[in-house]
Amino acid sequence: MAANKEILDFDPDLLRNKYREERDKRLRSDGNDQYQEVEGDFTYFVDDPYVDEKIERNSITDEIEVAIIGGGFGGILAAARLKEAGIEDFKIFEKGGDFGGTWYWNRYPGASCDIESYIYFPLLEQTKFIPKQKYTNAPETLEYIGVIAEKYGLKERAVFQTEITDVTWSDEKKLWNISTNKGDSINAKFVVHSNGPLNRPKLPAIEGIDKYQGHTFHTSRWDYKFTGGSAKGNLDGLNDKKVAIIGTGATAVQCIPHLGESAQELFVFQRTPSSIDERNNKDTDESWFESLQPGWHEKRRENFEGFLTGSFQKEDLVNDGWTEIFRTILGSIRNNAPSKLRFAYWAVGGIFSKRFYRLGLKDYMMEKFIDYVGKENLSNQVEMVDFAKMEKIRARANEIVKDPETAESLKPYYRQFCKRPCFHDEYLKTYNRDNVTLVDTNGKGLEKITEKGIYFDGKEYEVDCIIFATGFEVGTDYTRRSGYEIHGKKGLTLSKKWKDGISSFHGMHCRGFPNTFFFGPTQGGFTANYTHSLDEQSIHLSYILKTMKEKKLNFVEASQEGEEKWVKTIIDKARDMQSFQESCTPGYYNNEGKLNTAPQNNVYGGGSLEFFKLMKKWRKKGKLEDLELA
Ligand code: NDP
Repeated sequence: MAANKEILDFDPDLLRNKYREERDKRLRSDGNDQYQEVEGDFTYFVDDPYVDEKIERNSITDEIEVAIIGGGFGGILAAARLKEAGIEDFKIFEKGGDFGGTWYWNRYPGASCDIESYIYFPLLEQTKFIPKQKYTNAPETLEYIGVIAEKYGLKERAVFQTEITDVTWSDEKKLWNISTNKGDSINAKFVVHSNGPLNRPKLPAIEGIDKYQGHTFHTSRWDYKFTGGSAKGNLDGLNDKKVAIIGTGATAVQCIPHLGESAQELFVFQRTPSSIDERNNKDTDESWFESLQPGWHEKRRENFEGFLTGSFQKEDLVNDGWTEIFRTILGSIRNNAPSKLRFAYWAVGGIFSKRFYRLGLKDYMMEKFIDYVGKENLSNQVEMVDFAKMEKIRARANEIVKDPETAESLKPYYRQFCKRPCFHDEYLKTYNRDNVTLVDTNGKGLEKITEKGIYFDGKEYEVDCIIFATGFEVGTDYTRRSGYEIHGKKGLTLSKKWKDGISSFHGMHCRGFPNTFFFGPTQGGFTANYTHSLDEQSIHLSYILKTMKEKKLNFVEASQEGEEKWVKTIIDKARDMQSFQESCTPGYYNNEGKLNTAPQNNVYGGGSLEFFKLMKKWRKKGKLEDLELA
């Protein structure tokens, strides 16, 4: 099953070398330190441009059962599920002026989600909301968040424009005390930390970044007062402006077409191109949507996860660019199996699907296939499918972009999941406009920023505005990103506890920090359909709190043994990704190419579906196993 060059229309060795060269060009010794933290003189980059009026209010002193920190999807799902479980005494603290989290902040023109809306929007069966299109956008997502908030009566429990400054455990009171920038002092029995994994914008620490005299902002704080227009584009404030945008990640890909349309002149500074596949958005067929049978939402989400985690699925319900690559890999494994095994596979997956699914036989069969094919062969085969996919992506740049040099610059040379795959039908076309110039920094990034603009390769690009599409902090300390310290039992701080690596039980509990629930991907089930894992976490949270209520328990903490076991599980399961990550071009997926971080700073390596099943099984046992309770 090794690569057969005669039947492939690419040379794997050449591509491997090219990928390596492109990676090496970008590897740098400063890793995450290449970025400037948004503090001190840079704090204005995180001011909230979306509130009309800053709330001035008296400080609050209160005692509540549950404090939820963060009003994004995680926070409102936690709140909604708590309400469903009959737990009503909670408050949601949010630094923005409304609910939304990621979607509150990221309102840049063109902001949208390329995970299918029918699976990305949680609680669809409860709200009966019908997304307008297969892929939704930021305004509709914010509207939907409002629908959830309305349905579960969450607004009256929200404390907006309020930043948490400290969370401290009192051994005496057995309560958490929460301090805020509004002088509040809230005692809470339980605290849910749902800060979002990409919440803190980052800037490149390039020479002169503080010298620029023109207008500037980060994409997650879009300045519509300056650009005019709306999330739909039509940025008429830029009609007479020269604009530079730094970065070509998933965010830039979505706003660049609108900038290109409106700016007098646009310069796109690229370090690494994104992979741009077709999006093919389409309107929702409402009669189809209304005909979906109860339970459809869970089934569809699981089906999608099934593809992304390599577990057997009879049909591809979502059927898009995300599932395509995994579908192709599975097809390729199946086709390489001997006919007897193929029949068994078809029988298990097809005819007796439900029963075998319950018995876990579908996954068992998949394991047997993998054993048969051999792990190394499988990995070669996956690489071939990936090469083929990326060749198509590169060919797409050639087909769409007229200038051959620009087309070449826009071709990504790395494995598809080294970076966030992008799906867009207008992005590449934008480079055919006369007013748009791609400045390819050939993997190096900018040289410096001047008072008037950007300097690269002996040329100064004078611009009226610089937009930073440079992403968000990943891999820096949790408390730096959340903006507050957590002081647990006996004064132990979370920064100290996690200094040499994250340690948790199920990614949610942490010894030394009782009655605390962390929402997020680390040491838990990560999926590209991120709201799915947040929903699973909210179900888990509400189960634990409901069970504790029924058993009249007030205290829950990860046991020493439980936490150690879980950390070991994360380490054992995580090993497989190491060589893939090492082969990747740097980015936040591989900690900017510096993989020597603690091996437990990982997601659950068995995949999201396996993790969700594990949590379900744990709940089913009903014993709150590996937790200390009082
Ligand atoms: P990213 O971190 O993905 O991109 C940052 C960009 O800035 C990269 O192109 C990076 O280049 C570039 N950059 C950084 N430093 C420099 C420098 N010194 N000079 C030049 N360029 C530089 O951030 P995004 O905001 O684009 O996306 C973050 C995440 O948000 C995505 O990965 C995705 O998970 C999510 N998202 C999802 C969307 C969707 O559903 N479609 C849309 C938008 C965001 P390099 O690659 O070389 O590091």
